[in-house]
Amino acid sequence: MAHSDFETKHKAIPLKKWLWNSYISAALIPLLLIELTFLAIYWGTGEFVYKRGAQAVTDLSQAALSDAAGREAQTISRKLQTIEALTKVYGDATGEALEQPSDVSEAEKARHSYSPDGVFYTTEDNGGSAVFYSGIFPIDEEEREKVWRTARLDPLMKSIVEADPLIAQVYLNSFDSLNRIYPYFDVLEIFAPKMDIPSYNFYYEADEVHNPEGKVVWTDAYIDPAGAGWMVSAISPVKSAEKLEAVVGIDITIETIVEQVLDISLTGDGYAMLVGRDGTILALPEQGERDLGLTELLDHSYDQAILDDTFKPSEFNIFRRTDLAELALAMQDAESGIIDLDFGHPVMASWSTIEGSGWKLIAIANADVLLTPSNKLRDTLGMVSGVMLLALVLFYSVYFAILWRRASKMSDNVAQPLHELEADMADISQGGTLSVQRVHSVAELQMVNKHLVSMSAKLSAASRAKSAFLSAMSHELRTPLNAILGYTQILQMAEGKPIDAGRMADLDQIARSSTELLMMVEGVMDLSRIEQGTMSTNFEAVDAIPVIRQTYVSLKAVADAKGVSFDIDAEPKLDTTVMTDSGALSRVLAQLISNGVKYNVSGGKVTVRLRDGGPDGLFIDVEDTGTGIAEERQKDIFVPFERLGHENGTISGAGVGLSLTRRLVEVIGGRLSLKSEEGRGSVFTVWLPRP
Ligand code: ADP
Repeated sequence: MAHSDFETKHKAIPLKKWLWNSYISAALIPLLLIELTFLAIYWGTGEFVYKRGAQAVTDLSQAALSDAAGREAQTISRKLQTIEALTKVYGDATGEALEQPSDVSEAEKARHSYSPDGVFYTTEDNGGSAVFYSGIFPIDEEEREKVWRTARLDPLMKSIVEADPLIAQVYLNSFDSLNRIYPYFDVLEIFAPKMDIPSYNFYYEADEVHNPEGKVVWTDAYIDPAGAGWMVSAISPVKSAEKLEAVVGIDITIETIVEQVLDISLTGDGYAMLVGRDGTILALPEQGERDLGLTELLDHSYDQAILDDTFKPSEFNIFRRTDLAELALAMQDAESGIIDLDFGHPVMASWSTIEGSGWKLIAIANADVLLTPSNKLRDTLGMVSGVMLLALVLFYSVYFAILWRRASKMSDNVAQPLHELEADMADISQGGTLSVQRVHSVAELQMVNKHLVSMSAKLSAASRAKSAFLSAMSHELRTPLNAILGYTQILQMAEGKPIDAGRMADLDQIARSSTELLMMVEGVMDLSRIEQGTMSTNFEAVDAIPVIRQTYVSLKAVADAKGVSFDIDAEPKLDTTVMTDSGALSRVLAQLISNGVKYNVSGGKVTVRLRDGGPDGLFIDVEDTGTGIAEERQKDIFVPFERLGHENGTISGAGVGLSLTRRLVEVIGGRLSLKSEEGRGSVFTVWLPRP
């Protein structure tokens, strides 16, 4: 029991596994840990650098975009200021012209005519402006005088249009619907005959209600009734002492704004757009059209425009678009700023207010494009760490494989000699001798082997000495013992000479003890003879049953004294002949039966049973009803001088009986085995070959 406990607590593992485990724990795990840590650091650093880089790029781009938006707003503001100034100059000139009596030439007068609808208009282009006097009111002398007075504005109007490429046209509109416009076009074809000019935004936005300060103001984007397309106007009131006489204006078309003002290059595929005070997108370049899903109103339909209203549709108003709601909200709160938006891809939008007009310039850049270099770098770093990880995995797979092979080889190298050593030791423990020293490549093993050889030599020398001593001693003991026994028997058989019962019992005791002692001495002698190989045998066909009977007869006295009965039990018709040395067989049986009696209980039984032992053998069971032998002790009973605790008990013996018996059974070519249960008795079985 104690033995198996030890085994479960100290589970031994094979050398190969032990080597492998120590490789793994001592080298591989730390190595792998370090490698992975480095990789993680590399990857982490990459990610950190990317984040920092991306932030820096974003910050820089935001700054650049804001800067660009601010600068552009300033540029536009300056351009618009120029136009405002021109508008003012033109307004003042108009005011003066309206007050001075006319000095118009007859030729100029001659290019004017009345239409059937009562429109007074210019019929031909002489390089000056076009005139359209709506037929909404009758046009008489006084009205014609107004036309002649303003005719002197033509050179100024021409100069203004030529002064700035942004300017599309310049005009004046009077409260009674006189329109003078430069450059010339066929007014009758374009304008409605009864047009009420003050109802248009480019007139009323300059009146006292909308413009009490009388400044130059900018209109929202509208479609030009004069046919120049979508435009915005700088308009300025012209007042006399009593009333608002006229409103003058300078038009710039959206097209020119897109082409000339918004034609700027910004980082990140950026572009700029203009938003009016009411949130209408005034001008939008192509990229913006794609982003917002709009088409700038460069084309136009006059019929529709003049019939409906002249303003841009609602999807052009940033306040009415959900995708720009965030921007619109932010723009209401601040003159300038920057915000991140999502147009299906991330964008940055920076706005700036254009002084004077109150328009907003919005610069928009694609954040993805801005971050492309950083993203590329990150992707590269990611790929590098991926490749590194793969290489690492590959390297370690190969490394593991090599290591596994090494461990196998190494364990083989060590295990093989260990096995040999183990075999040698087992051999020695069986009484064998080790004479040749094996050759090992490991010094320690070589040393162990050397010691083993010398140990084996010493052991066999000691064993020989012991056997020699035992045999000499036994010889010396046997002669006097035989004498004691002989004389005792003479005394016992001395006829006619009365011996009282008490003395007779003493003589019996002497005879029993002497027989026991003689058997023991002969046993020791046999053992040493067997060990020295000098045991002589005489094999012949012997019937086992008479041998068993005789043996029992010699032991009957002891058995009777102990109250142990005896029985022979043979299978019917069993051939009980065996090929053996009858002396050896009788000693084997004597030993087994004697033990069966000795270690039995009073009133117990010893049965010798003969069974068929296969085609060429016979089983002889010696069964007792005695104390039995615990399983874990069974192997010890064949060890010489081992008595399993009976050393100091009442049952006499030397502990050599069973070891001798086993050797004897081997000598006569048989086998001895044991089946026993503690407290229930034992069965010793001898198998012997048949003739
Ligand atoms: P000895 O009988 O002289 O002690 P043996 O070699 O005959 O020596 O037996 C060795 C030990 O085996 C004994 O001491 C005893 O403990 C045990 N033994 C032998 N035979 C039996 C048996 N039939 N029943 C129980 N124990 C036995």
